[in-house]
Amino acid sequence: MVRPSRRWRPPFCPNAACDSHAAAGPWRYKRKGFYARLRGPRLVQRYVCRSCRRNFSSQTFSTTYWLKHPRLLAPLLHRLVGCSALRQIAREFGVTHSSVQRQSERLGRHCLLFLEAHRPRAAPTEPLVLDGFRTFEHSQYWPFDLNLLVGASHYVYGFNDAELRRSGSLRPSQRVRRAELEGAYGRPDPQATRRAVSELVGRVVPPGSHAVIESDEHAAYPRAFARLASRRIEHRTTSSRASRTPRNPLFPANLADLLLRHASANHKRETIAFSKRRQGALYRAAIWAVWRNFLKSRSENRRDEPPAVALGLVRRRLGARDVLAERRFPWRQALGPWLQRCYLARIPTRALARCRSHTLRYAV
Ligand SMILES: [Zn+2]
Repeated sequence: MVRPSRRWRPPFCPNAACDSHAAAGPWRYKRKGFYARLRGPRLVQRYVCRSCRRNFSSQTFSTTYWLKHPRLLAPLLHRLVGCSALRQIAREFGVTHSSVQRQSERLGRHCLLFLEAHRPRAAPTEPLVLDGFRTFEHSQYWPFDLNLLVGASHYVYGFNDAELRRSGSLRPSQRVRRAELEGAYGRPDPQATRRAVSELVGRVVPPGSHAVIESDEHAAYPRAFARLASRRIEHRTTSSRASRTPRNPLFPANLADLLLRHASANHKRETIAFSKRRQGALYRAAIWAVWRNFLKSRSENRRDEPPAVALGLVRRRLGARDVLAERRFPWRQALGPWLQRCYLARIPTRALARCRSHTLRYAV
């Protein structure tokens, strides 16, 4: 059996409560033997932190930590942006549907942290396009907007969710059903879009800075920007009826919407793979955004560099292995309240009495 490299050093203590976890530079640990696994790496080095006495191993720092099917993670990333549904992936790899579900949730959490770690911290230097991608959770009675903030470079700066009330032309029987459901579960907050857009733009545009934002004529957007008094937002609007060509100022968002629907089985029209919870749709949006920003060319015809390379955020196009090279720990990144809730799967679905959140103690 091959022994693991002795040159690799654990970078920090993985215990969130330990003083050593955030300390820069050398920290005190010692090696504590090995354990054998059924899947590669077969022999894993164990360690103990000298400060908090927590045992851990080299696997603790791997994205495949505690996974029964560690080789599934990278192909799963490609399948989830290749419009496969969870059961189709499960059949292809000979694993259960629930394994695919759990791993796609882990991948979603990893991608949320990956996006947040690589996002430019200064004010965006390019115009941003704001758009709400309309989809639904649980049933068509519960629509929501996936609010996207995309740069002219096609880089996805961020996204979040806003619940909506089902609207449009409804048959009388549908109106009755909507009233019944709203009576039982409550009505979505009419201010949800305004609140969500404030959070999203406030996250991407730092206080005291300036940004140009292009959008359609949605009435909630100017109200959302007005709440961000410490930022100078130059808001330009284009009618959503204008032709959706590359010359349209909203083209980056229109293309992102098209790609999101093309790449994700849960957003196909008339699908049975729709998201049962919008939490699941948000995890998948994070995976899609990592793929869009770091893996995919801006133009398929030109095969040019991905948006993150064009913006100078990474030096070269990344592959799934690069994205999954190391595990990210949520307590080592500053996450705003929405990102924290999304990471921990605390975005509720109104029509479900009990929504499972992410409460694992070690595989955080
Ligand atoms: Zn420790």
